[in-house]
Amino acid sequence: MSIFEDNKLQSTSISELGEFGLIDHITKDFKSKNKTTVKAVGDDAAVLKSALDKLQLISTDMLVEGVHFDLSYVPLKHLGYKSVSVNVSDICAMNGKATQITVSIAISNRFPVEAVEELYSGIKSACEKFNVDLIGGDTTSSVSGLVISVTVIGEAKEEKISYRCGAKVNDLLVVTGDLGAAYLGLQILKREKDIFLANPGVQPDLQGNDYSLQRQLKPEARVNLIEVLEELEIKPTSMIDVSDGLTSEILHLSKCSDVGITIYEDKIPIDHTTMNLAKDLNLNPIFCALNGGEDYELLFTIGQEHYDKLKKDVDFTIIGHVTDKSEGNNFITNDSASHPITAQGWDALKK
Ligand code: ADP
Ligand code: MG
Repeated sequence: MSIFEDNKLQSTSISELGEFGLIDHITKDFKSKNKTTVKAVGDDAAVLKSALDKLQLISTDMLVEGVHFDLSYVPLKHLGYKSVSVNVSDICAMNGKATQITVSIAISNRFPVEAVEELYSGIKSACEKFNVDLIGGDTTSSVSGLVISVTVIGEAKEEKISYRCGAKVNDLLVVTGDLGAAYLGLQILKREKDIFLANPGVQPDLQGNDYSLQRQLKPEARVNLIEVLEELEIKPTSMIDVSDGLTSEILHLSKCSDVGITIYEDKIPIDHTTMNLAKDLNLNPIFCALNGGEDYELLFTIGQEHYDKLKKDVDFTIIGHVTDKSEGNNFITNDSASHPITAQGWDALKK
């Protein structure tokens, strides 16, 4: 049962189309655009041409119903979009360009064809937005819930690739966009689900929370900001995307780079709607920005010589700097107190 109108779909049974009919039906409107795509869906394997002057980047993410998403409040179209976007974000985090995806789905028999259409309409709009080609996948049935596994292929020149491990002492730590909104969007959706379960007649009250809901349901990979960095001739010395939460990503960068990282409370970018919503929900906005996951912003370190190029750009915020490892990872609050950063990021395996 769904609280969203657009999850209430007409129903055509998948068995009417059969597995091959379904694959044809959902993939027929996809058109490849990248010159490295030689053959997409329709043969035993996709065929790609590798760009000679580049290295290939590959990443996979699996989304499992009940673990990563709840279909009672996640529209399938958004879920399709998000499953592509989070993968493209991983390629961005390497300072690369995503070019192709494969999409594998395990669908329960309660799913009608229209539901799969919705999912693929979101996948298609993400492919168009991020300029990636759908080149294949697999379709199978599931006896429990929906599983979506996306593999993304991308490319980058060898000297452009940013690993997690290159941060140097005195580098600046930069984050794109703003933080915490996606976590609050999830809290709103959960709240409305609980209200709906208690009183099925009550319509969800999602009004006024557009930004945080959009950040949770339909995150955007920061492809455009990777292009900005290229134009500004900035290569991050280390980079990661913010999927599990800022503090968790900071710990990854510092551990891998064998350095310490210090960040400042007054520098953390938080949208004003996030501030207000956190107060309404009795949550600390800084806590949401530090520990809430799924913002899909980019977190990276740069040499100090680039400071002038980024200091006025609203899409980039310098939130801290890299120190010697012996100083550890620290969060400096507005009263100048220093707190060690600990792992409290969102973790699907932690209960
Ligand atoms: P095979 O039997 O060789 O595994 P399939 O019948 O599974 O082939 O797939 C036929 C074609 O459709 C292949 O190109 C495959 O990559 C593609 N495909 C299958 N399932 C999906 C899906 N869910 N999304 C996109 N492409 C798919
Ligand atoms: Mg197959």
